[in-house]
Amino acid sequence: MLRKPLKKTPMDESSQDLWQRGWYRFARPCASPNFGPRPGGIVIDLVVLHSISLPPGHYGTPHVAELFTNQLDWNAHPYFKTIEGLQVSAHFFITRHGDLWQFVSCEDRAWHAGVSSYRGKSNCNDDSIGIELEGLEGDTFTDAQYEALQSLMPALGVQYPIRHIAGHEHIAPGRKEDPGPGMRWDYLQDSLGFPEAFYPSSTHLQQPKK
Ligand SMILES: [Zn+2]
Repeated sequence: MLRKPLKKTPMDESSQDLWQRGWYRFARPCASPNFGPRPGGIVIDLVVLHSISLPPGHYGTPHVAELFTNQLDWNAHPYFKTIEGLQVSAHFFITRHGDLWQFVSCEDRAWHAGVSSYRGKSNCNDDSIGIELEGLEGDTFTDAQYEALQSLMPALGVQYPIRHIAGHEHIAPGRKEDPGPGMRWDYLQDSLGFPEAFYPSSTHLQQPKK
């Protein structure tokens, strides 16, 4: 079902060249049915970073893409029975090799955040873009994944008025723990080119900039 993702980088591309109706040119599209319209008048100013692997800790499987497209065989692994019927999606998924997939147009509302609240607003799915990194809470992420973020995040920044970058753990504290302590927020701050104020303040306390 899944073809090999494209491996390109955006160089000197205008916003029009990079995006078509919310679909990023350098991501491999794999359309998910799990989305809906965003509420009218919202401003997409938040990027939410997640981690996921299926089964947890198993990398390189097709199961995340299968989950996001409602094609996961719930009987294929005991863990899958514990999430049977789950209908979720993220806009983007970045594999351990840095391959970038897109499941939902950024113009639409993907189902990644759940019950959530951040920067004084609830229902973060309404006005955020969700990026899933193949990983596990507590595990680190690969250089290829950071490189993929370094291409994708600036491209999001030219198309949407991004002002906040947070983890699922920050928008649903106590309920969610991803992407977890393996995420190098300090490195993201240094490498993505967004102001420090865009990042979670608690992170600054845990991982002060050198
Ligand atoms: Zn998450």
